[in-house]
Amino acid sequence: MSHLIGLYLHVPFCLRKCGYCDFYSRKGNDDLYDQYTSALLAALGRYGDAGSYEADSCYFGGGTPSLLGPKRVGTLLAAVEKTFGLHAAEITLEVNPATVSLADFQGYRAAGVNRLSIGMQTGVDEELASLGRLHTAKDTVRAVEEARRAGFENLSLDLMLGIPGQTEESLGETLSLVRRLSPEHVSAYLLKIEAGTPFSLRPADEFPGEEAQVALYQFACQGLEEMGLRQYEISNFARPGLASRHNLKYWNGEEYLGLGPAAHSFLNGRRFFYPRDLEGFLSGKEPVEDGAGGDFEEYVLLRLRLVEGLTEEGVRARFGYSIPQRLRRRAKPLAATGLMEEDETGLRLTRDGFLVSNEILARLLAE
Ligand code: SF4
Repeated sequence: MSHLIGLYLHVPFCLRKCGYCDFYSRKGNDDLYDQYTSALLAALGRYGDAGSYEADSCYFGGGTPSLLGPKRVGTLLAAVEKTFGLHAAEITLEVNPATVSLADFQGYRAAGVNRLSIGMQTGVDEELASLGRLHTAKDTVRAVEEARRAGFENLSLDLMLGIPGQTEESLGETLSLVRRLSPEHVSAYLLKIEAGTPFSLRPADEFPGEEAQVALYQFACQGLEEMGLRQYEISNFARPGLASRHNLKYWNGEEYLGLGPAAHSFLNGRRFFYPRDLEGFLSGKEPVEDGAGGDFEEYVLLRLRLVEGLTEEGVRARFGYSIPQRLRRRAKPLAATGLMEEDETGLRLTRDGFLVSNEILARLLAE
C-alpha cells in the first residue's frame, strides 16, 4: 500500500539576500539552476521505487523557486508526477514579484502549478525598501493581475508584521491593497530577528516594540477576517475550503518528504533532513537521520498552532486514548485568563494565546 505524503522541493537561490532572512539560499545562475534541477531529479529517483509513496501536495519553496523558470519546474513536476502520482494534488510555487512575467505564469500553469504563494510582504514601498526587498507594491499588483490572467484561481499572499517603521496606519494601507487583490489565502508572519542576520545588528528601537507587535498582529487578524479570510493557524488565513493542504500536513503531524539542502522530512515515523550544504546535495549526499517523530508531545505542539486546536476526536483516532487529564488540568487556569479554551471537544489557544504560544506550550508540557 502506498503512503499519502506531501512533497517539498527546496530551491536555495535568491537574487539577493534580504537582511532579515535566515532561510538557506544564495546567489545562483543558469548553470547552477540546471545542475540543481538534475540533483533534485536524482533525489526524486531515490524515492521512486514501486509506488511506495503518493503525493497529494507538492510545494516549491525557497529561496526563490520562481528563479528556476517554467521549463525546469515543468521537468521536475513531470518527474514528480511519474514518481508520486499527484492525483488532484495542490501544487504550490513560491513567487517573488520581482522575478516573474505573464509568460512565466502561463508556463507555470501549463506545467501543472495550480497555487501560487506570492511574497508581497507589505503594500508600502518604504517598508519594502527597509526590508531590502527588490520589488515594489506595484510589482505585486502586476504579479497578481498577471497570475489571474494566466488562469491561477488559488493565490496566497505573504505579509510581514513588525517591519521597521510599520504602524497600524501603514498596515491599514497594506490591508486595503490585499482587499483589492482578493487572494484566496494570506500568511501574515511577525518579523523575527534571527541571530547572525544583518537585521540582528540593527538597534532594537528601529523595530516596533512588543506591545506594538501585539497591536499589529491583532489589527491584521481582524482586517483579514473582515475580508472573509478566516484564521485557521497562528499566521494563516483562508477562504473556506482553501487552507493550504501542504502546510496543514505539518500541523496535523502527517508525513512529508523534503528534498534539497535544509529540507526536512517525516516519513515512516522517522525524521531526517538534508544539511544546509548545496555542494553536498549536488554531489548526491544522503540526508541525515534526526530520530523518531510523531509522538504525543510533538502532536500537541503542532496541533495547538491551529485554531481548531487539539481535539478529542483527533487524539483518539491517532493514539487510541483521550486527551490526558494532566493536560486538561494545566489548561484550566490558562482558560480562566482567556489564553485558551478547554471543553469536552478539546483544547485550543485563543488569539491572545497565540501571541504567547511558546510560554503556554512550555507550561502545558512541562515534566
Ligand atoms: S527572497 Fe525570500 S528566501 Fe530570498 S533572501 Fe529574501 S526572504 Fe530570504
